[in-house]
Amino acid sequence: QRELLRMLPDVTATKDSHHIGLYANIGSIEDAKYAAENKAEGIGLFRTEFIYLNQSELPSEQYQYEIYKSVLKLMKGKEVVIRTVDIGADKQLDYIDIPKEDNPFLGLRGIRLCLVNKEMFKTHLRALLRASMHGEMKIMYPMISSLEELQTANYILEECMLELDEENIPYKRNIKVGMMVEVPSAAINSDILAKHTDFFSIGTNDLIQYTVAVDRMNEQLLNLYSPYDPAVLRLIKLTAENARKNNIPVSICGEAASEEALLPLFLAMGINSLSMSAGEILPLRKKVGEFQLKLLKTISEEVMALETAGEIKNHLKKYMR
Ligand code: PEP
Ligand code: MG
Repeated sequence: QRELLRMLPDVTATKDSHHIGLYANIGSIEDAKYAAENKAEGIGLFRTEFIYLNQSELPSEQYQYEIYKSVLKLMKGKEVVIRTVDIGADKQLDYIDIPKEDNPFLGLRGIRLCLVNKEMFKTHLRALLRASMHGEMKIMYPMISSLEELQTANYILEECMLELDEENIPYKRNIKVGMMVEVPSAAINSDILAKHTDFFSIGTNDLIQYTVAVDRMNEQLLNLYSPYDPAVLRLIKLTAENARKNNIPVSICGEAASEEALLPLFLAMGINSLSMSAGEILPLRKKVGEFQLKLLKTISEEVMALETAGEIKNHLKKYMR
């Protein structure tokens, strides 16, 4: 790792100078330090859940503001995508009332929970807006499954902005606001959603789970849970195409982002950035440097014509060798 740190440039490019951003996923201030040490080009996903977990009550606006500000300062002007809190499903809080659900992964989680707990959401958004003054922040909503949800979330954000205006509290008015594509409906409707958002980030962990109807935690069904599944890859490709048609950037921030064998495919699909655990950035930066974008077109066509996850995986692994 030390050798790679010394050897590699601070940005990531193919042999023929095509840039792809390699960003870090973080969950804490500590993680942000590690991301900076590993020369992340930015933070592609800040999971804010940790701020809410292990608490006895909702974290205050000021408490949250200090954390977001610290992360922005650590990243020294590099882009930091902060995801609004993705509570629910496997991440439950004792201090807010979530009715017991038979299928929590199909229930009140992510943006859905925020939209029905509007005061909690507003405190969160106000803290984010205020912190936006201290760096290059982008806001991102998780689990968007329809345009109405996206519009409602943006409407509440707008409300927070007006309140801050009235209180003479500064924030970045032109802050970019994007959404995760991690529910199949969002990928299928990505042509519609792209017109209403500033960027997409594909969350493959959930996108796979919801596409093939396999709980991402279920170890008995690992054979079905695969980023190489043609259905998953078609949704990623569709989302990337619709992002490009609408001139918005698209990234991938699930585990698949650092899957080496998928790299040529993601490059060919025109993915703008990949976000992963910080430790994976430098090895992948080295790998990117071994490819020529202009030679990747055929591999993408070959792969998309295959019929099973197994065939696709074998083909890509063979290609990598
Ligand atoms: C994802 O679903 O791919 C993702 C990045 O979000 P999380 O793993 O936090 O659900
Ligand atoms: Mg997710």
